Amino acid sequence: MSEVLVVIDHADGVVKKPTYELLTIARRLGEPSAVFFGAADQADEVASLVKAYGAEKIYVIDDTELKGYLVAPKAEALQQLAEKTAAAGGVAAILIPSSFEGKEVAARLAIKIGSGLITDAVDVQEGPVTTQSVFAGNFTVTAKVTQGTPIITVKPNAAAPEEAAGAGVVETFTPTISDGAKTAQIIATQPRQATGRPELTEAAIVVSGGRGTGGNFEPIEKFADSLGAAVGASRAAVDSGWMPHAFQVGQTGKTVSPQLYVANGISGAIQHRAGMQTSKTIVAVNKDNEAPIFELVDFGVVGDLHSVLPAATEEIVKRKA
Ligand code: FAD
Repeated sequence: MSEVLVVIDHADGVVKKPTYELLTIARRLGEPSAVFFGAADQADEVASLVKAYGAEKIYVIDDTELKGYLVAPKAEALQQLAEKTAAAGGVAAILIPSSFEGKEVAARLAIKIGSGLITDAVDVQEGPVTTQSVFAGNFTVTAKVTQGTPIITVKPNAAAPEEAAGAGVVETFTPTISDGAKTAQIIATQPRQATGRPELTEAAIVVSGGRGTGGNFEPIEKFADSLGAAVGASRAAVDSGWMPHAFQVGQTGKTVSPQLYVANGISGAIQHRAGMQTSKTIVAVNKDNEAPIFELVDFGVVGDLHSVLPAATEEIVKRKA
């Protein structure tokens, strides 16, 4: 069976959930091989995690030399790994997390190996045949790469991670990075202050607030914390200065696809829907029973969020205790 290369999404060796989703998808397409760009001394720990989701091999690419540069060295390393793997037994697909960096690496890789590229897939099935939600979520596109090795960037929550034992054989791969790939150097990085909540685009549950909050996000945040959810916001809330732009969901913000999306005091404008309508279950709290958001919900509550959310939070906390 041909290998499916899966680029591991991690932060300093801490493997993120999208990796397990990608490995679950990879098993539909061939034999999953995880690719770890990171510190060599973290490789065994990472390998023990990803092999539980079916990784037969883990290619370790020590990034000591690569991480001081932008994306070009990673694309070169993947090109060389893909060529080596293709020569050894074939590559059925290359799956990369759909982050900004992931998409840029994927695009460069596609050019280097002369392959087709599909970005922002929300599902990948045998073939590989992908599903994308495009044009502000107005169309669902089914697509297939017709040239070379399919390179697919996959959005978080595209699959529910399923465990499956893999061999987890660790193999070090040392690419040769050209001088040309080192022409954009990272001078400084500053980590964003942690909120203690999951990352918006990766969270299984997202609780968002809009203009209807009146600028008071406390009920939203408390409700989110009771569920272990990420907090999101509509553009009206962001433009009013109530929340930073990093929290904005929608056409000009982030696209989320969680298991559960709870929209509070959000009318449901098309530009907001564009960022959340592929959520698996949608719940809305709005005091206007004719708000357009109710057209796409699975469950709607007509009421004032300032009383509905504290009551719901209290009940959830009580039931958890
Ligand atoms: P409103 O439309 O004002 O809705 C507020 C809702 O809150 C109403 O339905 C009201 O009934 C309800 N409400 C009020 N008080 C309460 C209460 N106490 N309890 C419960 N409900 C209450 N928008 C985005 O969100 N994301 C984007 O990325 C985005 N990109 C855009 C790009 C372009 C090019 C353009 C033109 C617009 C974009 N917008 C985007 C803006 C979008 O068109 C809407 O203006 C915006 O989504 C409205 O935000 P809202 O639903 O919070 O506010």
